[in-house]
Amino acid sequence: MSDDRARVRERAEAVLRRLAGESARLRDDQWRAIEALVVERRRVLCVQRTGWGKSAVYFVATALLRHGRPGGVAQGRHGGQVAQGRHGGQVAQGHNGGPVALDGSGGTTCGPTVIVSPLLALMRNQIETAARAGIRARTINSANLDEWDEITAEIAAGTVDVLLISPERLNNPDFRDGVLPRLAATTGLLVVDEAHCISDWGHDFRPDYRRLRTFLAGLPAGTPVLATTATANARVTEDVAEQLGDALVLRGPLDRESLRLTVLELPSPAHRLGWLADHLERLPGSGIIYTLTVAAAGETAEFLRSRGYTVAAYTGQSDDAQRRVIERDLLDNKLKAVVATSALGMGFDKPDLGFVVHLGAPPSPIAYYQQVGRAGRAVAGAEVLLLPGAEDLAVWRYFASLAFPPEEQVRAVLAALSPDRPRSIPALEPIVDLRRARLELMLKVLDVDGAVRRVRGGWIATGQPWHYDAARLRRVAEARAAEQRAMLEYAATDGCRMEFLRRCLDDPAAAPCGRCDRCVGPRLPAEVSAPGLAAARAFLGRAGVEIPPKKLWPTGLDAVGVPLRGRISPAEQALPGRAVGRLAGLGWGARLRALVGPEAGDAELPTDLAGAVIEVLRVWAHGDDRWPARPVGVVAVGSRRRPRLVRGVAELIARTGRLPLLGEVSPGATPGSGPRGNSAQRVRALHGAFSVPAPLAAALRDLTGPVLLVDDLVDSGWTMAVVARLLRQAGAPAVLPFALAVTV
Ligand SMILES: [Zn+2]
Repeated sequence: MSDDRARVRERAEAVLRRLAGESARLRDDQWRAIEALVVERRRVLCVQRTGWGKSAVYFVATALLRHGRPGGVAQGRHGGQVAQGRHGGQVAQGHNGGPVALDGSGGTTCGPTVIVSPLLALMRNQIETAARAGIRARTINSANLDEWDEITAEIAAGTVDVLLISPERLNNPDFRDGVLPRLAATTGLLVVDEAHCISDWGHDFRPDYRRLRTFLAGLPAGTPVLATTATANARVTEDVAEQLGDALVLRGPLDRESLRLTVLELPSPAHRLGWLADHLERLPGSGIIYTLTVAAAGETAEFLRSRGYTVAAYTGQSDDAQRRVIERDLLDNKLKAVVATSALGMGFDKPDLGFVVHLGAPPSPIAYYQQVGRAGRAVAGAEVLLLPGAEDLAVWRYFASLAFPPEEQVRAVLAALSPDRPRSIPALEPIVDLRRARLELMLKVLDVDGAVRRVRGGWIATGQPWHYDAARLRRVAEARAAEQRAMLEYAATDGCRMEFLRRCLDDPAAAPCGRCDRCVGPRLPAEVSAPGLAAARAFLGRAGVEIPPKKLWPTGLDAVGVPLRGRISPAEQALPGRAVGRLAGLGWGARLRALVGPEAGDAELPTDLAGAVIEVLRVWAHGDDRWPARPVGVVAVGSRRRPRLVRGVAELIARTGRLPLLGEVSPGATPGSGPRGNSAQRVRALHGAFSVPAPLAAALRDLTGPVLLVDDLVDSGWTMAVVARLLRQAGAPAVLPFALAVTV
């Protein structure tokens, strides 16, 4: 090591001691990253395991870059030196790799470090940590809009050392146009956290990350960049390094020595829930139970609560305040477990998390490695358990169907956008048959590709030609399919589990861990007690979920010639209805998917489901939350796809309840739109498609009570809303929807 470099390392060690205590030492791999950033002014991609200590690297690098000597930051050297930052960076390169500020003069040499991170919850902790080393950190986010001006002024004055921003910020029009260019020009060090999100080869591609290209392009020459990830295989690493531009890749071993991996193959959902009820107590500390669907998270949490556990469900449908309370309770060990979908993600950090259980396998071993990596960061041992199910594959197929849309749909959106009149997403929905989340993702990708632009009030077209890269999308889809196969192999492997995961991440140091069930034999019992299994079976055998009535029409219908808008008149609404179960649920889910799932044809109603239908109606008639008035007749929704099944259910209900079967609403000639459309598309397709035949209309006119309206599956809920409106218009005093299944 040259004298210069040795001096820099001494200073780096001093800063670290102030951050992490007197006994703290930089490891050689951490020093290598700092050296590359501070001395060589390089772009660096660190692929390192969770807990490696990346924040020490960027805080130390920040202190050295900002103020060549340790302590400089704390003494608050402020004011007007931002321009020198650029100069300093350039001088550094012509100075045999030694930045001017490191010669002991102690002058401020660089603008602030900008950290782009999705870990919003971590940001607060980071700011506190930084303060300990005298580093002044600020954050720009959607919650502190009123402070932006003040913060940008502080940046210009040189008093901010670290600025934390979320990737979503980069796509905000005001930030992108007003703040980003100036920020890029003064950035002293750019840090990109969870950098695998920039690559669509990765398991967690986020289009917002693509905006980093703009950021990178705006950086002055010689500005160091640090990108970090714990979950990138060789292909993703290469892709990220290429997007960073000539990056030095520093890759470390990805073993996690505290994790003890186990897979338990249990025969049914009831066995898996029963196992949890029996053994959850014995898992160390507090943990996370991941499920693949929102419905499964809710059901699992409810069942475990009924077995005396303190657990909470956490999904994308929980509101922000609810989520914060649950996160807090888990951090404080007030909960044994949080039952969560992948919505409990990167933003959550609990160093003493004792276990992660997966009830159902995620579709990628890399996603799995990342999720289980939340356990055992600061404890000696943590249990990591996978309980796979045969039904996982159906969920994976659904995820895969949400990928980037086919070309004709993209072209339809591009054609609908003009260069001067912004259109909002609700206004675009009637034009293209895509769910909102997928439409939004597509627009973000098109934005980064330059074909569209997000402005105030919506999206505009830029007029730039755009190429649909079908070959690349096909390769990405193939990579996803390969990941799914690898996940099945993980469950089945005879070899070490951790070694398997590390190989999926192309970790050259992958080797048997000596801790997993394959290395040392099973440590968790596979037995499910008879009472546990019986309780799970009884819980899952319960039938009946509510179908909430629609109250508002989707926006944008008038633009496509459908004269419906605003509130659905109370005189035209349905009442709350009932279904046997959820398609994605653990209980009746598998039986219902076989009958009314995307691939199911027409069939007779099986006996067990006929029993469930009667049970749901019995509870609806006599339970605590019963219908407001007994129905006086049954009407079927005419079905082209499953006429036998729907008629069978309607006849069963009429017969059992001794009610007249009044008839069927004609489905007309318009085919129902696919199950994945958005609301506006759906209503547009349904409006005018159904009609009430004259004999049914005559029967409805004389009714004095509600009708039961029977269908097989409630997906978007719009068929029920549109048909209920027709029945109400024809004179039905009230409509009670009933279906075999609801999608969500
Ligand atoms: Zn092992």
